[in-house]
Amino acid sequence: MEKVVNTVRGPIATEELGKTLIHEHFAFGYPGFDGDVTLGGVDWEAALQTGIEVAEKAKAHGVKTIVDATPNDCGRNPELLKEISERTGVNIVCSTGYYYEGEGAPNYFKFRNVVSDAEQEIYEMFIREITEGIGKTGIKAGVIKLASSKNEITDYEKMFFRAAAKVQRETGVPLITHTQEGTMGPEQAEFLVAEGADPSRILIGHMDGNTDVGYHIRVLQTGCSVGFDRMGIQGFVGMPMDSEKLVVLLGLINAGYEEQILLSHDTVNVWLGRPPVWPEQLAKLLENWHITYVFDTIIPQLKEKGVTEEQIDQIMVKNPARMFGVHTKVEV
Ligand SMILES: [Zn+2]
Repeated sequence: MEKVVNTVRGPIATEELGKTLIHEHFAFGYPGFDGDVTLGGVDWEAALQTGIEVAEKAKAHGVKTIVDATPNDCGRNPELLKEISERTGVNIVCSTGYYYEGEGAPNYFKFRNVVSDAEQEIYEMFIREITEGIGKTGIKAGVIKLASSKNEITDYEKMFFRAAAKVQRETGVPLITHTQEGTMGPEQAEFLVAEGADPSRILIGHMDGNTDVGYHIRVLQTGCSVGFDRMGIQGFVGMPMDSEKLVVLLGLINAGYEEQILLSHDTVNVWLGRPPVWPEQLAKLLENWHITYVFDTIIPQLKEKGVTEEQIDQIMVKNPARMFGVHTKVEV
C-alpha cells in the first residue's frame, strides 16, 4: 500500500482513511482574534482537551479520519492537531490555504503582490507545506483549502485557485473549498477544471447552502463532488434549514450521484479569541451543530428514506478515499 495521504502524524495509505469527516475545525478564529489578547486570548491547553473530547466522540461513531479545514489566516495550528491525533488515534489532515477575501486576511498577499509575484509565492508556500512541512514543525498539509466570496471569485482569491490547481497537477493533493452563502459553486468547479485540476479530487464545499438542484447538477456535471458539509448549521452564515438540505441530498442520491457527495458539519469546536454567546433564537437553531450530528440524525433519516448501507459507505468512506487516492503527475 502506497502511503500517499499526509496526516499530522505522517503519511498513511488511502485504505487507512476509513470513515472520514471531510470539513471540520478543531479551532478557528476570525483574523483579528490574535490582537484581542487582553480580554480574548487563546487557552491552547483547553483547546487540546476539547479537541480530544471531540475526536473521541467521532471515534465512537467509527470515524477514523477528520480533515481540519482551518485556513492559515484563521489560527491554523498543526501542532494542536498532531497532539489531538496522537492522544486519540484519530487521523487528522491539516490544510494549507487562505480564507476568502471578505473574512480572511488578504492584506498580506495583496502587499506581496505589489512588491513581488504573490501567485508564485502562494504556489511555493503550498508546495513547501505539502512536501516538506508547515513552518518548522515538519507536519505536512494534506489538502488545500480554497475560498471565494458571495457572488464572486475575486482577483485575490483567483491567485490561490490557480496556484492550487497547479500544485494539484503536480502532487495530487485534494482541493476542498468554501462557497459563501450558496454562491459560486459551479464557477469554482469550472475554474479549477479549466486550470487543469482533476475533478475527482475536488470537493466544492458548503453546497448545502443552496437548495436549487440545478446549482448542484452544474457542479456534478464537471465531475467535482459536492459537500453537504454544514449539516447542523441553520439560519447562520446563510444556511437553510437541515430539513430543506435533506430534500436536496436525498434527491441527488436517488438520482445516482452518491459517488460525488460528502457529508460533514463544519463544526468550530473552539473559537479563538472570545467565544461567541449566541442570541437565544440562534442558539436553538444551532443546537445540532456538533461532531456527531451526521451519525445521530442525518444518516438514520437517510436510511429511513431508503438510502442503503452501501450508499452511506460510498459517501463516508469511498468518496474521501478516491479524493486522496494514488495520483500520477499530470504534465501541462
Ligand atoms: Zn469551514
